[in-house]
Amino acid sequence: MNRPEACLGCGLCVTVCPVEMVGGHAIVSFLAGREGAYSVWLCTSCWRCQEICPGGVDIYGLMMEQRRREPAPDGYRQAFKNVLTCGYALCVGPEVNEVRTAWGLEPIRLVPTDRLRILLGEVGSYE
Ligand code: SF4
Ligand code: SF4
Repeated sequence: MNRPEACLGCGLCVTVCPVEMVGGHAIVSFLAGREGAYSVWLCTSCWRCQEICPGGVDIYGLMMEQRRREPAPDGYRQAFKNVLTCGYALCVGPEVNEVRTAWGLEPIRLVPTDRLRILLGEVGSYE
């Protein structure tokens, strides 16, 4: 896989990126060299840019490298904490099923957080 210098400037990656389609700028900001820009955190890890790139630029890999170098934005950090606490990026508890029942919806199966912590501990993501 190639570095950004191999970019041909064709713009194909931008046309297939779901983030760019909804007005975000994952690829544009990254290739423009705005290191530390919030944009790398918008990537959905779909790999569409990578698959279409005629220059073989490792766009996704480069964005993930940047993520490892910089601290996550506050909103993301909170989402990580929520996952550790309740199993979801947006915390929901048992009360969610009371609401669902009141609306005539099936209850959802909540993530058992004790097992989640064990799993994250196994992959080294939780201390
Ligand atoms: S698809 Fe590849 S070559 Fe084309 S603009 Fe994007 S990174 Fe550059
Ligand atoms: S991997 Fe990220 S940057 Fe590439 S197309 Fe998907 S969302 Fe966009």
